[in-house]
Amino acid sequence: MFDDWISDRYGRPEANLKLVPMNEPNPVEAAARVRAHWGIGSRPIGNAINLLETNGIRVFSLAEETRHLDAYSLWRDEKPYIFLNMTKTMERTRHDAFHELGHLVMHRHTGSKHKMAEFEADTFASAFLMPEEDLKAEIPYFRSLDHLIEKKRRWGVSAASLNFALNRIQRISDWNYRGNYIALGKIGKSVEPNPLPPETSQIWTKILRDLWTRGLPLSRIARELNLPEKELNDLLFGIASTLDKPQVEREPHVV
Ligand SMILES: [Zn+2]
Repeated sequence: MFDDWISDRYGRPEANLKLVPMNEPNPVEAAARVRAHWGIGSRPIGNAINLLETNGIRVFSLAEETRHLDAYSLWRDEKPYIFLNMTKTMERTRHDAFHELGHLVMHRHTGSKHKMAEFEADTFASAFLMPEEDLKAEIPYFRSLDHLIEKKRRWGVSAASLNFALNRIQRISDWNYRGNYIALGKIGKSVEPNPLPPETSQIWTKILRDLWTRGLPLSRIARELNLPEKELNDLLFGIASTLDKPQVEREPHVV
């Protein structure tokens, strides 16, 4: 596997997900524990991919054939992996990333097939991206949907997610929640107002640059591993910012 080939050549952070097991799965509590374990308090999350990778989670892109899925995750040889759909809005991808983190943390031993697993992972993602303390400090009361659309950038979430989180902590009444939900639905499901710029992985950008300078482009690695080059490109699609040859490496023009 491509990831093992990289592991043999580059040191990457170890998985940092050893947590005290909980008697009852409580997604809000689990999100707070992971945040505390990672030492990020209740601060908003900047680059989600970098945060996950710094804590030893291997982040890849879904292959084209599996892009009907939102995302998935798994443990392999004690290493956690998350596969993201990088063709969706960045807000959606960030939510999916922490939804999968929720599965990795809460459902490693029980599996994620049970009825409540999806709801638990969504609640984990919401609580992880928008800790209650910070939400309450930043939004003392509900003003308008436009205000939510302006504020959502702080947490890097969709306006719909912020609306949901504020209703969960009862800072928005059910009445206003429903009104916002309907108004956002009219804007369109795949259109995000005030959208985030794309995020990419620092680790992969560095590794790919280094491989290039060693004369090992993905095409050569694919040949060595006996894999189609497209497969490696797909795995890093949208995750690494420099899938092409870096500018400095460009061959001089022959005039
Ligand atoms: Zn799920």
